Amino acid sequence: MRGKRAKQYRKLMHQYELAFNFREPYQVLVDAEMIQDTTRFKMDLPHLLERTLHGKIKPMITQCSIRHLYLAKHENRDEKSTWINTAKTFERRRCGHHELEQPLSTRECLLSVVDPKDTGSNKHRYIVACQDAELRARMRQIAGVPLVYVQRSVMVMEPMAAKTEEVRNGQEVEKIRSGIKRGRAAPDGGLKRKRDSDESDDDEAADGLLAGQGDGAQPMVKKVKKKGPRGPNPLSVKKAKKRDVRPTPSAGAAEKAKMPDRIERQIRAAKEHLAAQSAGGGDSERAKRKKQSLQSGGAGDGGGATAEVD
Ligand SMILES: [Zn+2]
Repeated sequence: MRGKRAKQYRKLMHQYELAFNFREPYQVLVDAEMIQDTTRFKMDLPHLLERTLHGKIKPMITQCSIRHLYLAKHENRDEKSTWINTAKTFERRRCGHHELEQPLSTRECLLSVVDPKDTGSNKHRYIVACQDAELRARMRQIAGVPLVYVQRSVMVMEPMAAKTEEVRNGQEVEKIRSGIKRGRAAPDGGLKRKRDSDESDDDEAADGLLAGQGDGAQPMVKKVKKKGPRGPNPLSVKKAKKRDVRPTPSAGAAEKAKMPDRIERQIRAAKEHLAAQSAGGGDSERAKRKKQSLQSGGAGDGGGATAEVD
């Protein structure tokens, strides 16, 4: 279970990197409650974040959050000083609310930091680690905010929110469109695209190569024509594409182009086999060849066999 989740989270962060340009060290905004809960469970918060997010992190805390820790009433003084000491090791994020008499709520403060202009985008690429479920729900309305929280001493990373997925898919469509435009504008754009897709799919490349050897470059040109307009961006939709490519008519055409060669080879092999049989009375050609080479002291291997067949 642990391994499976780790793989999921790594993939998720990779998607955030591709679609929203997240880069290590990831900036993680941690709220006061997160520090309190992880201290209670004696968890090493920065270490846990790095393990969950699969990369170096820069933990950050807003001025309001650190004030929440100072203001919180807690009977265990040691634990409270642990909170504050932990928070002090994090980078202080100036939220600008420090002049207020009372700190803003975690919700107001973090929202103003992540999306200050209320545009629905996470401009500074923060990852938010907070224990407030309602705040996380609000953060899901902002595109591209990875969210983590701690549940029963386990750190959990939320799957991509619907809004984030939407923006990400929109970007992909945009990428595909611009790819097509480029393909049409440039005279050799189609060929380049073809080469790209070959790199992403070895089987297809092999097919193209074989077909090309068989009947010149014709099948390659035909393929480009068919694939050009619908060609997905090979960098963004690699997996879906692989599944797509195999049953396409162009792949079938390449297969067909290979056929005559293969049949011819089979017929030739059958003929040779027959010839060998009639000459050698039932021995297979290979056995025959072996015998020959043994007799001639291993010298006339190929030559002996051809002489036999012809
Ligand atoms: Zn604040």
